[in-house]
Amino acid sequence: MFSYTPYIWPSVISSAMCVVLMPLIWRRRTYPGATAYLALLVCVSEWSLMQALGVAANGVALKVWIAKIQYLGISTSALLLFVFALTYNGWRRLLSAFNVCLLSTIPLFTIVLAFTNEQHLLIWEERSVYAAGPLQAHVVEHGPWFDVLIGYNYLLVFVSVALTLWRFVRSQHHRAQIAILVLTPILASVFNILYLMDMDVLGGLDGTPLGFALAVSLSAFALFRLKLFDLTPVARDAVFDSIHDVAIVLDSHGRIADVNPNGRHLIDRPASEVVGDFAEALLPEPLMELVQASAIEDSHEIAWPQASGDRVFDVRQSALGPEAGAPGGRLLLLRDVTERRAAEQELRQARDELSKANQELYRQVNRDPLTGLGNRRSFFNRLATEVERSRRYDNPLSLIMIDIDRFKVVNDRYGHLVGDEVLMAVARALESCRLEIDLIARLGGEEFGIILPETDTPGAAAVAERLRARIAAIEVSTSSGETVKVTVSQGVSRLESASGSSDRLLAEADKALYRAKESGRNRVCLYEMTS
Ligand code: GH3
Ligand code: MG
Ligand code: MG
Repeated sequence: MFSYTPYIWPSVISSAMCVVLMPLIWRRRTYPGATAYLALLVCVSEWSLMQALGVAANGVALKVWIAKIQYLGISTSALLLFVFALTYNGWRRLLSAFNVCLLSTIPLFTIVLAFTNEQHLLIWEERSVYAAGPLQAHVVEHGPWFDVLIGYNYLLVFVSVALTLWRFVRSQHHRAQIAILVLTPILASVFNILYLMDMDVLGGLDGTPLGFALAVSLSAFALFRLKLFDLTPVARDAVFDSIHDVAIVLDSHGRIADVNPNGRHLIDRPASEVVGDFAEALLPEPLMELVQASAIEDSHEIAWPQASGDRVFDVRQSALGPEAGAPGGRLLLLRDVTERRAAEQELRQARDELSKANQELYRQVNRDPLTGLGNRRSFFNRLATEVERSRRYDNPLSLIMIDIDRFKVVNDRYGHLVGDEVLMAVARALESCRLEIDLIARLGGEEFGIILPETDTPGAAAVAERLRARIAAIEVSTSSGETVKVTVSQGVSRLESASGSSDRLLAEADKALYRAKESGRNRVCLYEMTS
């Protein structure tokens, strides 16, 4: 039934290689195009196996039967290649159920015709065997439908190659893989075309399986060395194009090798003008400075001037190794943070304003509006704190009560405005004792108080005396050219650590003050002296 001939080997090898590749592609079946590619391998394998059997078969009848079975592969391979090309290159959506049915019409019809050829002779009209040594060549006179199938198949092969070629031209990445996908169908077709054109290079033998063997070897190389299905160009492009950030790839010469749609929008030039041009001419200066500073992996912020105002970007750079096809190149990822920064700025401003308002509120609550000194409220709060502290640490604490002498007379003679000016001048003089502002207060009218932490009676008396002299030296000029001078009387008290309280401290200072008034004004009286 079969006789061995060495002419079976190209077909056997082709078929075997397909079988070997199948499980490997099955493992990667989730990648786009992998299932179509697997089906294509099954068909090519079947085609080649039948070719080997056909060559080895004895007699026309057996050869015809094998040829019929071989039509399963012959009719469907080109269609599967087309389905693969569509899927791998990102046109899967065209493969609707309707379109697949439509595309399958001619292949399926051809299979039916092949099995019923005796009735109509549409596929082949005559088959004979031409024996030459170990080769029993199968000579076939094809019928008219065969030409339809060949025309259809080559149309599909042509479109598949064109699609992949188009991708090759456009894509910056995975070009070796895409080139192989362009080459394999061409390689497989060359021997088939030679056979179909009756160019008898293999002594009447159909050389198609030899082409297949070469094409499948090339596919195996693409699969293992170039990781054909591990990252498809479509997946890469989809990621690169759809990321929300701006992505710019620079080559080792500082040219723009790729830029995603967001980046093109920002550069405001069509892709054809951007890719290949020097980055310096297209990217803003601050970004170029970053690139030249080689600040890999650091994050920096730059402003990119736009017609609608500057956009602020957070820039990250990563080095691209030779694997990415760009030795010494780099990837720039720019995240637009304009809105975030503006919001942060607003928040900061609001916070500052709030803090200012709080300070103002505190000032208003605790300050005397006329003199800017502390008011009664702040004075009593502070006094309570200091009394507490003094008692806890057994530190001395003194208090001075100050009252302007005969101030009513100043008001009566020069008016309230001059009186106010005198109050302010006295306040400045009090401030010159360089105490914290909270420790000096206007307690009301022309009365002031000073808390002196860690100060004993003699120390407080010295301060009071210094202030008395300073205030007595104040001269306030009136609009009529007169000079107003005032004096103050002061009462000094000291906290008794065991029994003392702020009320008692105040009362004793008040008493001392009263004594100062009584004993002639413009003087300092100490409580001890009065008791
Ligand atoms: P003494 O030496 O006994 O203290 O006499 P005095 O006139 O200073 O005392 P008195 O308490 O009789 O008068 C206080 C005056 O202080 C009465 C009021 O007109 C004046 N005065 C109180 N507050 C203010 C103020 O805010 N501005 C002005 N210009 N005068 C004030
Ligand atoms: Mg008074
Ligand atoms: Mg007074």
